Amino acid sequence: MFQECQSLYTEMAEYNAYQGSWFEKKKKETFPVKLKFGLEVCYSPEHEKDIEKIKSLYSFDFLAGSIHFIDGWAFSHLKQRWDKKDYDLKKLYTRYYEIMYKLVQSKLFSGLSHPNSLQCFGAYPEEDFSKEYDNIACALKANAMYVEESSGLAINYDDKELGMNKEMLKYMQLHDVSIITASDAHYPKDVGKLIPEMNVLLSKEIKRM
Ligand SMILES: [Zn+2]
Repeated sequence: MFQECQSLYTEMAEYNAYQGSWFEKKKKETFPVKLKFGLEVCYSPEHEKDIEKIKSLYSFDFLAGSIHFIDGWAFSHLKQRWDKKDYDLKKLYTRYYEIMYKLVQSKLFSGLSHPNSLQCFGAYPEEDFSKEYDNIACALKANAMYVEESSGLAINYDDKELGMNKEMLKYMQLHDVSIITASDAHYPKDVGKLIPEMNVLLSKEIKRM
């Protein structure tokens, strides 16, 4: 099915008329969806050079950057659940958004994945982070990057908040950042889950502004 592999079928297609027309038909087949091929890549500031190197080896349609670690700590592992009462949430979120800002400024990615994953175990940001949201949104816009409105946390962690928090979303829309819905499906059955619901949320927010 890949144009790149067409040359592997020459003898088969020339074998007889039936095989030739079967192959011709396959080549002409079109589908009502356009697929893009890309990866979501873990970002950590200390590995920018490594990511750059790997990125240069392949050609992707897109590369989404995401944060799964804060200074080595994998905060979203289900087997490593944590409780917000054991952490200084203000410090934690400040560092999280600092890394997020660096991700956006690294110019390594076309988009920012699930910008809310630190709340996967219910530790929502409690302080006012509007300045951080403003900076991140500005940087996304300046680097022509999109941000994901993701149902991944709701699907994979049973998070009660769907997509970005209202304040973050407000700044994304304020700076006209391109927002792309994503289900971050870990299983095929979850592909596209909750996207209609997120579309409703997105259109509501725009009306509210
Ligand atoms: Zn991820």
